[in-house]
Amino acid sequence: MKPDAADMQLTLPFTPTGHALRRTLEERLGRPVSLVLTDNSTTVLSCRTLDGILSVRLHRMFLSADHAVLDEIVTYLREKRGAMPHFRSFLRLNREDLKRKPAKKVNLRTRGRHHDLSELYEEINRTYFGSTVTAAITWGSRSPRSAVRKRTVGSYSERSNTIRINPVLDRKDVPACYVAFIVYHEMLHAAMGIAVRGKRRSVHPREFRRREKLFQEYGKAMAWESGKEH
Ligand SMILES: [Zn+2]
Repeated sequence: MKPDAADMQLTLPFTPTGHALRRTLEERLGRPVSLVLTDNSTTVLSCRTLDGILSVRLHRMFLSADHAVLDEIVTYLREKRGAMPHFRSFLRLNREDLKRKPAKKVNLRTRGRHHDLSELYEEINRTYFGSTVTAAITWGSRSPRSAVRKRTVGSYSERSNTIRINPVLDRKDVPACYVAFIVYHEMLHAAMGIAVRGKRRSVHPREFRRREKLFQEYGKAMAWESGKEH
């Protein structure tokens, strides 16, 4: 979708911590690292080597981990083993926390005039994500400032773990399958994390595009999107 480049630009500069963590890992491991922060609370840490680059996927909760935990992560990435007692207790504590308050729940508006975001979200979460996505969702504001960004139909903020859907979509003539597709797209961002690799960002890597097409009404949503432009 065209609007995305803009929407990710809006949210990405505010996640410097991911960059800092990646740099720390590179320094300590002495090799290039690609870091993807995820919202996957089942597999919180995984890694593989791709083209000589250590590709790490880590749950974003570890952005707030202390040095003891970080040391264990570094050892694990280097040796692919380790007892990791600090890591485990950090995980235990934070996993409970994630369950209790998945995201900041302030000022969330999900019920629109024509489309109910939380209904769409719950169903998509069940169908495509095994109900593992914890991001909050809300209609965006209708302020004049945001009206300029009309083409940004949806966005995901990693920092607040919140999905915002542009209220221009809350209309009778916008089919539910299209709104659902936009919600699905932003949920994919939440589930897959955002790759941080040097200064270049891969907002929609190949794997993202592949999973995007798994949406059952993908064709229908795309047809509607291209049809409305003439
Ligand atoms: Zn996107």
